[in-house]
Amino acid sequence: MPQQKTAIITGSTSGIGLGIAEGFAKAGINLVINGIEAAADVEATRASLEKHGVKVVYDNANMMDPGEISAMHKRAEAEFGSVDIIVNNAGIQHVAPVDEFPEDKWNAIIAINMNSAFHLTKAALPGMKARGWGRVINIASAHALVASPFKSAYVAAKHGVLGLTKTVALEVAEHGITVNAICPGYVLTPLVEKQIPDTAKARGISEDSVIRDVLLANQPTRQFVTTEQLAATALFLCSDGAASMTGIALPVDGGWTAH
Ligand code: NAD
Repeated sequence: MPQQKTAIITGSTSGIGLGIAEGFAKAGINLVINGIEAAADVEATRASLEKHGVKVVYDNANMMDPGEISAMHKRAEAEFGSVDIIVNNAGIQHVAPVDEFPEDKWNAIIAINMNSAFHLTKAALPGMKARGWGRVINIASAHALVASPFKSAYVAAKHGVLGLTKTVALEVAEHGITVNAICPGYVLTPLVEKQIPDTAKARGISEDSVIRDVLLANQPTRQFVTTEQLAATALFLCSDGAASMTGIALPVDGGWTAH
């Protein structure tokens, strides 16, 4: 990876995004972290990332708002001089049968989980092209490759992110920019913890049974993927060794999609 780099990681106040932020900070990458919380609530996290010797700013751009996404990118370029890596990670979930799926939840999932990746990629590509180097990493999901019932909006958005990944990869392949999707299996983050009660209700089973028989039933390793493993994968995609990997869906899913 060329000298001091800057990354924007969306949805990085929690879970996978925060894990990638920690991995990137340890690797010497300056960061814009993002989430919907007030700055005061994220200050301890921001300051602890800076202990690794990098500069970290927090921007609470709402990933449902294209104007806020582009303003976050402009602010990052102004503060750091360049945005070399973007990690489109922000995401939400809602679990319900499709004929009962609330329209506002559908729209929010499509906006945050898919459209925001388009808006930030669009903002970031001109600078990456001008510098002849860039990394776009989309945190998709095993649900970009396979479906599960009751997650129609999420599965649609994640399949869409994979389509965006492949298309942009082709468009920028000659500019030193790679565009890839990481497809995690289940990671025990707040996003997953929150859906356990809803899944239990939708399937009429206990919460323990959701963990054992639904979530980890899909993962032959019978273990949650960790945020550290995903940070290591993202860092590899940023390395020069991964310069010829582009347009791929990279499962990190304990064997789930090998079924
Ligand atoms: P999480 O709930 O722990 O964190 C979500 C992050 O997104 C938080 O920082 C939150 O502030 C931010 N966010 C939510 N709405 C936002 C908005 N409107 N604008 C800006 N930021 C917003 O979730 P997670 O499990 O770490 O998931 C991160 C990504 O990984 C998501 O795209 C998710 O679909 C994907 N993923 C998660 C799993 C898993 O098992 N946890 C598996 C595969 C893929």
